[in-house]
Amino acid sequence: MTQGYRLLEADTGAVSRALIFFGFVIAAALSLSVLFAVLVINMFGVPAGNNDFMLMTVVIAACVASPMAGLAAQNQYRVDRYQTTLEAMASTDPLTGLLNRRSFKTLAEEELARMERTQNSVYVALFDLDHFKAVNDTNGHAFGDRVLIAIANLSHAALRGPFDRLGRWGGEEFIILLSDVNQQQAEGVCERLRKRIAGTDLSFNGKTTRVSASFGLAKLRPEDGLAACIDKADGFLYEAKNGGRNCVRSEPKIRSAA
Ligand code: GH3
Ligand code: MG
Ligand code: MG
Repeated sequence: MTQGYRLLEADTGAVSRALIFFGFVIAAALSLSVLFAVLVINMFGVPAGNNDFMLMTVVIAACVASPMAGLAAQNQYRVDRYQTTLEAMASTDPLTGLLNRRSFKTLAEEELARMERTQNSVYVALFDLDHFKAVNDTNGHAFGDRVLIAIANLSHAALRGPFDRLGRWGGEEFIILLSDVNQQQAEGVCERLRKRIAGTDLSFNGKTTRVSASFGLAKLRPEDGLAACIDKADGFLYEAKNGGRNCVRSEPKIRSAA
């Protein structure tokens, strides 16, 4: 799941940060011990066997510093991991592991800010599962949850890696940010996903179902802002529902699908 990937990526970062921290503590301890030895020599004169004295000081410092640095680095790693987990929990939907509404909005606002510079063409698609209440009513809520997870995974796999960001907008409604696409390409992505969803058997605990989804697609325009774009996509989604469901609606009103 997407959340899993994100935690794994963050893990590698936490390990390297802990190692840097370890090295930093060792280096600081050794520098301090050399400074201490130099101070002792300055204050009390050069002891017999100056080199031995320096060496002994550094060795003792290293012996004390290594385990301390190890413990500190381990602690740093734990704190880092904990923070990463908290961040992941705050930004992802617990059921599907997708971006939650808040983090999707943050991401889209960042994209919006970048658009001023890059002139990128970006679209937002909202899609909602059709007659999902009936899926719950027929098979139970737990089955419905499994369907939502399957749709999230299937959609994540069907999208274009880092270019498309997928979130759970709420309930059985999902949202996609499509970067660097023109309208035709954005419609193509939605159509492909719509067909994938409608054509996939979903089986859990010996029960099998199929679901379809209706899509609304709108262009993200810096002059209008994100909220207006999502409202527009929602309007097209409403049209898709009224147009018979299992179809994509966008501006100008284009294809409907069987
Ligand atoms: P439409 O085609 O008009 O969208 O019909 P619908 O039945 O999908 O829409 P409706 O709004 O009537 O019902 C949505 C259903 O989605 C009802 C609700 O219980 C279900 N649902 C929302 N969130 C969850 C969830 O997290 N898990 C499960 N199992 N069901 C959910
Ligand atoms: Mg629905
Ligand atoms: Mg809905």
